[in-house]
Amino acid sequence: MRYDEEPFGLAPDEAAAGYALACQAQPLGDLVISTARDDEACAEPARHRAVVRAVRPLSADVLHVELELPEAGTLDYRPGQYLKLAAGDGLARSFSMASVPREGRVDLHVRRIPGGAFTDGILPRLKAGDPVDVELPLGTFSIARRLPAIADGCHRYGTGADQGDPRIADGRSRLPPVSLYWGMRQPEDLYLHADIPTWGERLYDFQYVPVLSRAGDGWQGRRGYVHDAALADLGDLSEHAIYLCGSRT
Ligand SMILES: Cc1cc2nc3c(=O)[nH]c(=O)nc-3n(C[C@H](O)[C@H](O)[C@H](O)COP(=O)(O)OP(=O)(O)OC[C@H]3O[C@@H](n4cnc5c(N)ncnc54)[C@H](O)[C@@H]3O)c2cc1C
Repeated sequence: MRYDEEPFGLAPDEAAAGYALACQAQPLGDLVISTARDDEACAEPARHRAVVRAVRPLSADVLHVELELPEAGTLDYRPGQYLKLAAGDGLARSFSMASVPREGRVDLHVRRIPGGAFTDGILPRLKAGDPVDVELPLGTFSIARRLPAIADGCHRYGTGADQGDPRIADGRSRLPPVSLYWGMRQPEDLYLHADIPTWGERLYDFQYVPVLSRAGDGWQGRRGYVHDAALADLGDLSEHAIYLCGSRT
């Protein structure tokens, strides 16, 4: 293919990897068209024995859980899919992968639910080396068009290429403008608050908007519910893709 002018939106490493801007590229020969990634089949779920590598707090009620799956090889999942984790007496809960697919390791961000059988009962007692069972990948939620995201309440977003939200890390060098509306109650709930702005270093245009629903007088940022803030800022949503993540409360 060729371009009349070298396109601004295509980085050299992306062009070298075979990406093209179809709105500007002129084909020089026959094209083979394949369907979008979202139409591709997901990997079949498989069960694995895993061990806990570490459990450490990210905030007062969010834990970063690192699991090792020594026999699983390189994990195959799409950003946004989830796994089922069974520990203790076999009680299982679903958690979204918070790391990009890699060899034998996966990270989770888990919010402690007071009185919750798994997150309050089992998880705080788990320690490095404890065996757990994992089934993945599950679900079909993943990024189709890469535009604003709204995350509410608890988990999901991490830092970088091998530790962080796979939905961000997987596609960030090819992203159009992205706004992350990050809804919590109080400032101390905003885990990764210092890290999230650094995600913008590899994005064309990244906006981080923390929104607090129960902030005290000291909070200088946005207040209210996260979806109200996004609606107020974005207005007409017809040209946006919105990814909503969060708990039911
Ligand atoms: C596809 C999927 C992905 C998920 N990914 C994540 C993730 O990445 N991180 C994460 O922390 N959780 C995630 N969850 C939620 C998780 O699976 C559990 O439901 C949650 O951790 C509570 O489990 P528990 O055993 O501690 O509470 P339970 O004993 O099951 O419930 C205790 C009480 O808390 C209520 N409750 C349950 N879940 C919540 C909640 N999220 N918020 C408020 N109240 C609740 C219940 O209605 C019940 O009254 C995901 C759920 C699904 C379905």
